Amino acid sequence: MSDSPRPVLVTGGNRGIGLAVARALAEGGDRVVVASRSGEAPDGLEAVQCDVSDTASVDAAFTAAEQLVGGPIEVLVANAGITSDTLLLRMSDEDFATVLDTNLTGAFRCARRASKGMIRLKRGRMIFISSVVGLLGSAGQVNYAASKAGLVGMARSITRELGGRNITANVVAPGFIDTEMTQALSEDQRAAYVKQIPAGRLAEASEVAAAVRFLAGPDAAYISGAVLPVDGGLGMGH
Ligand code: NDP
Repeated sequence: MSDSPRPVLVTGGNRGIGLAVARALAEGGDRVVVASRSGEAPDGLEAVQCDVSDTASVDAAFTAAEQLVGGPIEVLVANAGITSDTLLLRMSDEDFATVLDTNLTGAFRCARRASKGMIRLKRGRMIFISSVVGLLGSAGQVNYAASKAGLVGMARSITRELGGRNITANVVAPGFIDTEMTQALSEDQRAAYVKQIPAGRLAEASEVAAAVRFLAGPDAAYISGAVLPVDGGLGMGH
């Protein structure tokens, strides 16, 4: 896809959606480094240790990744995310702060660090993995939905700041994807969700990866500040 391998960093790239994204971009010819707290390297991919809730760890992970690939990161996929679901009345400050710190502030830390190299390169792509619930809302996920909605304002503000420097910032909003995160749902919860999805099924992580690959690729150079749903129609109208 690319003329020469582009350095890519995928946070949370060791499993689930992040791993599918990392594999899709590597298949397209990019030089992909995955980052996670464990630092584990999936077969055939390079990895760095990174806790996105810690600024020093993010900075060190980018430096390590840049050393591996021999230059600045050109494509950032901010995918690392967690949930800590409970109803509003029962949600503690810690439940709220922890999810925001990983999902939203973590993406901010990565975007800020990535922007340095992208400005120097005079090109770059940032892709933030949000969720259908960021705009649709979800009972029991006040913290998670707030963090995912925040990514939209962030990508659009980055677009306004850096759009003139050949840097795009977009959001992918997956619906229900078959990963460890959704395997935590009960059979009844799963069935109830599937009933609401016009496509009538959960998606594979590779279907999210295809959208990310498009936004990272040459055909998406004029797309920025967009929210691309990959949700089988679940979030339509939001
Ligand atoms: P998984 O739970 O399978 O994977 C989460 C990933 O995030 C892991 O690689 C994990 O790595 C990493 N991670 C978590 N916390 C941190 C941290 N502090 N620092 C660095 N890495 C971290 O999730 P999915 O693949 O399902 O989800 C990926 C993204 O897609 C998330 O942002 C999620 O919110 C979003 N999403 C998922 C949907 C779904 O249906 N599955 C739907 C919509 C959005 P490690 O634990 O090793 O650090």
